[in-house]
Amino acid sequence: MKNTLYLILFFVISPCISTKAQGLLQEKNNFTRQDTLRGSITPEREWWDLSYYHLDIKVNPEQKTISGTNTIQYTVLKPNQVLQIDLQEPLVLTKVTQNNKELEIKHDGNAHFVTLKDQQKIGATNSVIAYYEGKPREAVRAPWDGGISWKKDKNGNHFIASSCQGLGASVWWPNKDHMYDEVDSMDISVTIPKGLMNVSNGRLKNIIDNKDETITTNWHVANPINNYGVNINIGDYANFSEVFKGEKGDLDMNYYVLKDNLEKAKTHFKDAPKMMKAFEHWFGPYPFYEDSFKLVEVPYLGMEHQSSVTYGNKYMNGYLGSDLSGTGWGLKFDFIIIHEAGHEWFANNITNVDIADMWIHESFTAYSESLFLDYYYGKQASSEYVIGTRRGIQNDRPLIGQYNVNNEGSGDMYYKGANMLHTLRQLVNDDEKWRQILRTLNSKFYHQTVTTQQIENCLAEESGLDLKEIFNQYLRTTKIPVLEYQVEGKKLHYKWTNTVKDFVMPIKIEVNGINHWITPSKEYQTLKLKSKDSNIKVDNNFYVNVKAL
Ligand SMILES: [Zn+2]
Repeated sequence: MKNTLYLILFFVISPCISTKAQGLLQEKNNFTRQDTLRGSITPEREWWDLSYYHLDIKVNPEQKTISGTNTIQYTVLKPNQVLQIDLQEPLVLTKVTQNNKELEIKHDGNAHFVTLKDQQKIGATNSVIAYYEGKPREAVRAPWDGGISWKKDKNGNHFIASSCQGLGASVWWPNKDHMYDEVDSMDISVTIPKGLMNVSNGRLKNIIDNKDETITTNWHVANPINNYGVNINIGDYANFSEVFKGEKGDLDMNYYVLKDNLEKAKTHFKDAPKMMKAFEHWFGPYPFYEDSFKLVEVPYLGMEHQSSVTYGNKYMNGYLGSDLSGTGWGLKFDFIIIHEAGHEWFANNITNVDIADMWIHESFTAYSESLFLDYYYGKQASSEYVIGTRRGIQNDRPLIGQYNVNNEGSGDMYYKGANMLHTLRQLVNDDEKWRQILRTLNSKFYHQTVTTQQIENCLAEESGLDLKEIFNQYLRTTKIPVLEYQVEGKKLHYKWTNTVKDFVMPIKIEVNGINHWITPSKEYQTLKLKSKDSNIKVDNNFYVNVKAL
């Protein structure tokens, strides 16, 4: 009974920043034309390469409306005269221009096909300006369902934030809404009522007083940024900052919190520099020094917005005060600070091309929680934590979703993925080498969008191990390998069952207190034992099931 309650509690709280997976999108099997337009690299997308956005909008909190423009600059890769812009209903794309000429738009649901008048010469850098307005979809359960949260703080001030992972940034601004292509830099201008502040990504260039009871905050992002990482956060903010002495020199760390929470935040946010130290150690330099690092309080739980990580964990340790691992270790840190900032390396630096491969974001980031513990509390703590999180694994669907239809894989991409990586660490069997592999991923794929295959290849090359069937097993099936063994006198017989074809994976066992590596396959093999009645223990760091016959 106790266990049942415990598990129910876990699953209620566990849709960690996790199953923001948006239930609906995630469960769906019948994909529509709209899903294909949203999730594939259509002919009207592939011919142009994004270089720059200037999002320039006015937010009206009383009306709950947004209006403005996005200037979309791109390089022409191949001849084509039709360009796809995404903007989700009920927002309206009112006009698109190029070189001051208004263009014809063919609207197809949330995809808008714009016919260009000027010839698109290969290699040329062109731009279009997309005009839009309306009432964007309101987020009901941010960040899981996405949209704009129009809230108020307890003093009655507007407290507004965007969140759009999975659903896509086109829920609140027009863009090329596919993960494969990112701009190289971006400007974000947001006009809001005087008395409020807007915090977006990158650095604050200036704040303009418009003399009409509004201000415009101008932010500049100097690095490639994915669409869902772009955000607005509007509130009655106080801020404080510090300089972190990092691997690439001085890193500005800025914190924006509701004025009432300033003192609390000054103590609680000490996890932020601690996080930075641990993650630079494991993953290499923070990937966006030019843009600074910010933690920004929001009226929802939090999200990995690039260089502007949003925070709503109520100044508590754990996940809203709970330990997802059940080991106690999860209460040693603020889950949202650690997890969402971990995404700066895996999601913002290394970004999946297709969200079917979102395990690249979530598995490494879920694993980063245990690496944070490893840095401050040691390997034992780290292992206990990651093993503890197995209680949340459902093995309902594979980690990889369906390609080209904007479909995420199972929510197991968090803790099953983390346990797969923890298993790989055992196979590498050299913690310094393992750390260098994690750093290599971040340097090799610096500011890039990647596929699962690229990550698989890199891990295999750097470790020198054949990992093909191991990835097939853990990423593409819901089956957990079972180590089946039987002691017969002075012989130990063992093999893998419940595996993909050709699955071979070494594993560490303890026989009477002494470690042995064995390499089971699908056929029984035998290890000679020194004595009868040997005590056999399988190393629990490997995410496998064990069946003693
Ligand atoms: Zn995450």
